[in-house]
Amino acid sequence: MERVDVAIVGGGPAGTSAAWKAAEHGADAVVVEKGVPRADRDRLGPDSTDAAGMLDYWVDLMDFDPEEIPEDIILRRLDGADFIGPSKTLPVETTNIDASYPDFGFAFDRAGFDDWLRGQAESAGASYHVGDSVTDVESDLSPSNGREQTHTLTLSSGEELVAEYLVLADGPQRTVTTDALDQFTSGRTISDVLNPTEVNHIAYQEHRKIPDELLEPHRLKFWWGYMPGHTAYPWVFPNDGNVARIGLTMPIGLDIDDFDKSEWVLLREDDDGIPRGGEYIERLLEHLYPDYDIDDFPLVEDRGKQGGTETYPISSTRPIESPTKAGVAVVGGAMGGTSAFHEGGDHVAVRTGKIAGRLAATGDLQRYNDTWQDALEDEFARNVTLADVVHDYGPAEWDHAFGTADSLLNRGEYSWWTILKSGLSGYRMVKQYNSTKDQYRNGGYVQFEESEYDL
Ligand SMILES: Cc1cc2nc3c(=O)[nH]c(=O)nc-3n(C[C@H](O)[C@H](O)[C@H](O)COP(=O)(O)OP(=O)(O)OC[C@H]3O[C@@H](n4cnc5c(N)ncnc54)[C@H](O)[C@@H]3O)c2cc1C
Repeated sequence: MERVDVAIVGGGPAGTSAAWKAAEHGADAVVVEKGVPRADRDRLGPDSTDAAGMLDYWVDLMDFDPEEIPEDIILRRLDGADFIGPSKTLPVETTNIDASYPDFGFAFDRAGFDDWLRGQAESAGASYHVGDSVTDVESDLSPSNGREQTHTLTLSSGEELVAEYLVLADGPQRTVTTDALDQFTSGRTISDVLNPTEVNHIAYQEHRKIPDELLEPHRLKFWWGYMPGHTAYPWVFPNDGNVARIGLTMPIGLDIDDFDKSEWVLLREDDDGIPRGGEYIERLLEHLYPDYDIDDFPLVEDRGKQGGTETYPISSTRPIESPTKAGVAVVGGAMGGTSAFHEGGDHVAVRTGKIAGRLAATGDLQRYNDTWQDALEDEFARNVTLADVVHDYGPAEWDHAFGTADSLLNRGEYSWWTILKSGLSGYRMVKQYNSTKDQYRNGGYVQFEESEYDL
């Protein structure tokens, strides 16, 4: 039986950042990562997607100096993004949020980023059990042997790991988080609010080569109002060379009979179920480029998890607070910290992980909930507000939104000049955004508070 100060379940960006900061602040920190093989990595590692996008101000939210991000993980500098409705497009050249990173953002090699984070954690003294899963956690909250509490983790290898502090970083599937936290609930439970099969979305992506003449290597593209379901949209993220990730996000378990098929660009009258991810992507490409054939966008089969494709769950929910009095912090995707609204979450994962690791190491974990909220309040309030405002939008509403409030949507910032320019409908949209955001200020976006745990 191994005894450590801080045990971390999951070695993605959140868990690794927690291990890094815990070790840097003098704790004995161990990460247990179940370990996923990737063709582009020579050992088992975390369950990384192939590539990812980072916006300028997310670098600050991660608490990194732009210089710290290694050049060799950056695939592309980004100049902007296009939000495309059925007939209106909103081009965006700036996030409009103060940032020290000089460009709009960058596309990066996510596996490389994860490996770099692990290198930082190991250099600081953290250790890894990779290829072993945590199958159970039992917490004993009575102090013993100078420890405030003990958490006993059972691993799939049969070994046990005992820690004073527990960081739950198992991502949106919450393989361990739900039961570990429900040790401390009796009324409303974590499985009530964060059940992955109810609150997660599914994300599917393909790595395809884009013909030279169609390539826009420095822009992200999102199509809204093309497929049914709240926060359901296809996107294109440029990677290296001519390769792009073409993907989509959609809620799990949609019923096609709930939608008018004629309204949605990517549905067909004879669909008897919601199309599968690959079918949606084919239809998107046919719609955008009628003069081309799908074979003009060949699948890059040596990328991704399976023959050029990847399917992942993605959390699309509001975050929860952690039972810090039990010496437990939930971080990143496990706490509901990814926003399917813009497919982003690495920044929240890194920052919550860094905070949890540092506070666990310094015996200050009870400050965790306040600290992550101080650091990320604006980001959570903005994402939750936007996701709420557009929850029931159909194609017409997306066009209307993109046509009238081009400086409000997806940036959360606007000027009075643009409101005046967009007339009454722009004014209404700003008013709706502001009144929704008011509900979420001061931690109102949290969906499970620390006071609800029986501690
Ligand atoms: C298709 C897709 C595209 C995305 N694109 C972007 C993007 O462009 N930009 C961005 O910022 N974010 C993006 N995200 C979101 C981002 O990937 C997540 O927010 C981020 O990975 C969350 O990090 P995490 O460490 O909390 O969880 P994860 O990265 O999910 O890591 C959890 C880790 O825990 C391990 N694990 C789980 N259970 C156990 C167990 N029982 N025992 C041991 N180990 C376990 C898993 O193997 C995994 O490695 C995307 C997500 C998806 C699905």
